[in-house]
Amino acid sequence: MSDQYLGVRERMVRELIAARGVRDERVLAALRTVPRHLFVKDSLRNQAYGDRALPIGEAQTISQPYIVARMTELLEVGPEHSVLEIGTGSGYQTAVLALLARRVYSLERIAELAREAIPRMRQLGLDNVKIQVFDGTVGWSEWAPYDRILVTAGAPKVPEPLLDQLVAGGVLVVPEGQRNAQKLVVYRKTARGGIRRSEGEEVVFVPLLGRHGWKEGQR
Ligand code: SAH
Repeated sequence: MSDQYLGVRERMVRELIAARGVRDERVLAALRTVPRHLFVKDSLRNQAYGDRALPIGEAQTISQPYIVARMTELLEVGPEHSVLEIGTGSGYQTAVLALLARRVYSLERIAELAREAIPRMRQLGLDNVKIQVFDGTVGWSEWAPYDRILVTAGAPKVPEPLLDQLVAGGVLVVPEGQRNAQKLVVYRKTARGGIRRSEGEEVVFVPLLGRHGWKEGQR
């Protein structure tokens, strides 16, 4: 995946991600590898390595690189893991996960976004990803249970079906809170199936809409 943006991408990782406290070397390597400029419109390519969320159409955004790195670090993804992601969006976070995990299953509710994300995976040679158009708040029972689950849209509360589809010993990361401001929350399922919850930093995600998320039009 070498390209003309290699230098700016390395600078992004050094100055915007490592400098802000992300230490996990595997995560930093994945962020150095995935060509973020291929996940935005041509007209936004020169902004792709700045520390900002950018529009991807359909009123949705590709998350800020630091947040992608931070969430990936919190998820503690290993090479043997099967990962479920809710909110494919551009597919950028999906690609980062695909470099770190054995398999990635990603759900997106907007067909147009999934339709653009799927060929990006193919173009990057990431053949361990499955993307489907579906309400991710009900999970994806077909491939469950998952070692790791990542929600990349803001939820009023973690959707119960996702906790059900997490393995014992698994980790789930979700932005939880209000419709326009959330906190990163990490859920761990213990070996006996108990749930431990811890809250982290404040974030702003587009809303998770669906059966176990926000209702369309709700505030
Ligand atoms: N991880 C993405 C960020 C996408 S923004 C990236 O790197 O580009 C959040 C995405 O979640 C949006 O694309 C939105 O359409 C999607 N989303 C919201 N509610 C959803 C739901 N119930 N199921 C699946 N996707 C959902």
